[in-house]
Amino acid sequence: MSEFAKTRETALEALQSFIPRSGKYSRDRNAVVEGNTNVSCLSPAIRHRLLTEWEVAEAPLAKYAVSTVDKFTQEIYWRSYWKGWLSMRPEVWDDYEASFENPFSEKAESVMAGVGPIAVMNSFAEELTRTGYLHNHARMWFAGYWIHIARLPWAQGARFFERNLLDFDPASNTLSWRWVAGLQTPGKTYLPRRSNIEKYIAPHLLDPTGLELLENPVALVPENITKPEITRADLMSDHIPESGGLWIHEEDLNPESSPLARFKPSAILVSGNGDRLSKIGASEIRRRWTDSAISDAADRVEAHYAVKTECAMTADLLAWARANQLSDIVALRPEIGPLHDELRALKETLAEENITLHLIIRPEDQMLRPFAKSGFFPFWKKLQTRLKKGEFPLKNDVLPF
Ligand SMILES: Cc1cc2nc3c(=O)[nH]c(=O)nc-3n(C[C@H](O)[C@H](O)[C@H](O)COP(=O)(O)OP(=O)(O)OC[C@H]3O[C@@H](n4cnc5c(N)ncnc54)[C@H](O)[C@@H]3O)c2cc1C
Repeated sequence: MSEFAKTRETALEALQSFIPRSGKYSRDRNAVVEGNTNVSCLSPAIRHRLLTEWEVAEAPLAKYAVSTVDKFTQEIYWRSYWKGWLSMRPEVWDDYEASFENPFSEKAESVMAGVGPIAVMNSFAEELTRTGYLHNHARMWFAGYWIHIARLPWAQGARFFERNLLDFDPASNTLSWRWVAGLQTPGKTYLPRRSNIEKYIAPHLLDPTGLELLENPVALVPENITKPEITRADLMSDHIPESGGLWIHEEDLNPESSPLARFKPSAILVSGNGDRLSKIGASEIRRRWTDSAISDAADRVEAHYAVKTECAMTADLLAWARANQLSDIVALRPEIGPLHDELRALKETLAEENITLHLIIRPEDQMLRPFAKSGFFPFWKKLQTRLKKGEFPLKNDVLPF
């Protein structure tokens, strides 16, 4: 895979071309192979909702039985699970953000630069910064190495991923790093082991230098773990006004497949959160991918709504609202993460000029969210029941219009 789909059209093509391989996903997915051909590489597109989770999950069913692609379906909904879990416990994200002020140590800098004692970890650091992607197993090994072998703070490793991953997702990234560190499931850490790496990377692709350091790894067991409480159980959609401006942001670049599909906007803004990318020192490749996906969304929505569309930064929302004399703006609600953190201030600034920001939740997200109150398997069981009965994904006729 040389390039990650950055438009809805190319993402749909990539999904179609993955379907024949999805039948072997369960058997092959753990191997780290050249070009990552055993996995879909769709995560950047799914993360920014060029594709929805449910359309990706449904596509292989045109060719395979539910049981054949069950593992692929489950993996897709891990993303929904993490999102739901974090959205009810926002302080876990706040804790990660609070670690931002700590500078990277010299040791961390050398691990990120791919200058460490274990060749395969150096190659993962290099691949991540060059391509903006790592296979799931490589992410697990690298995070385990960072935390338990290099003994570096987990949140800094997560920040390194945030700078580089095209699919960076506040929930999947933060909670996966916490899981490797032993914070997410108390008592369970994830250790990278030589035997496991040798099993899943073909010998001709694996430089064994330094692997002896992974023969008997010892976990860094966290102390005083507290189970995060659910502090935000209810989350409802706002009312959709008759008319107003439509704000589309990089958290969900596909309003045509949402309850906003039939909204009649008088003006449209598509925005990226470039300030955040500057703040964290995001890689050029991540910035470029995001810009392309935003400009694809702008072209699509202009055609869909037949309204002239502007592209700008989130910080330009007020100026855009003023210029278009808006009293109402409608947007899909961003999940917990950097953009969500800005909402309160944004709403207040707009309210000072009598502009109301209405935040809409996709009904599918609303349905899945409460399933994530505890572990993944109870979540999956509830979802599976709905999938079997044809009650998920929701049909258009039950959308709130
Ligand atoms: C330390 C660490 C950090 C991670 N950070 C991110 C992140 O920032 N963003 C992100 O999208 N994923 C993250 N993941 C999860 C997973 O590694 C990626 O989603 C997956 O590798 C993406 O590649 P793919 O599209 O080829 O996946 P496929 O195997 O083809 O899976 C299809 C889709 O299912 C979802 N998915 C698959 N595995 C997982 C998983 N374990 N957790 C959550 N969703 C999953 C993704 O949306 C993915 O695109 C992280 C995992 C680890 C261990």
